Amino acid sequence: MDSLADRLAAVQAGVADAAARAGRDAAELTTVVVTKFHPAQLVRDLHALGVRDFGESRHQEAQPKAAELADLDGVTWHFIGQLQSKKAKQVASYADLIHSFDREALVGPLAGSRVFIQVNLTDDPDRGGAAPQELERLAALAAEGGLDVLGLMAVAPLGEEPRAAFARVRELSERLVRTAPAATALSMGMSGDYADAILEGATHLRIGTAITGNRPVKG
Ligand SMILES: *Cc1c(COP(=O)(O)O)cnc(C)c1O
Repeated sequence: MDSLADRLAAVQAGVADAAARAGRDAAELTTVVVTKFHPAQLVRDLHALGVRDFGESRHQEAQPKAAELADLDGVTWHFIGQLQSKKAKQVASYADLIHSFDREALVGPLAGSRVFIQVNLTDDPDRGGAAPQELERLAALAAEGGLDVLGLMAVAPLGEEPRAAFARVRELSERLVRTAPAATALSMGMSGDYADAILEGATHLRIGTAITGNRPVKG
């Protein structure tokens, strides 16, 4: 179990298994393979194995990678990292989906984009993400500003059972859809906790190391 193809197959089997346990259709789940810190060639190798959804978290890395890989067919780029306000418009130029919309200052730069609202499940404001009580207001501002809000994104905090954290996101989502009925998607679940996320209703999984292997040390 050491090749890229083996690891990808193992995660696909894990996703299918969790979906079956949740009574859900695995075909309704999107697995975004997170390729941050890896060379463009890894994206090519994954594309050859059938992967089409790729996640990147740093603009300075994602922009040249997306440009270098523009010849690949049918790729959807997901931007999953914290967004600097002054870089957001550039990110929107190559990212098909942005998982980290989290504040009013990003409405203008991201006009026309498809976004998830990232919710911060910790008490630390530096973690990225909006506070839970901000979600309705942000969704309304986003809609007015011409963003297409798909739903919520979250990272399970350290020190909390992931399943409990994802259950909290599911509750926030149930509340949000009362005022933003189209915002039903849930981007949650990483290498270590994707099965829990699927059990709590995730629609978009962001999985890196379980598929790619360890990330190269950042330079
Ligand atoms: C890196 C990253 C992931 C993937 O994490 P793994 O543990 O490697 O699966 C998912 N989401 C975000 C926001 C990330 O930054």
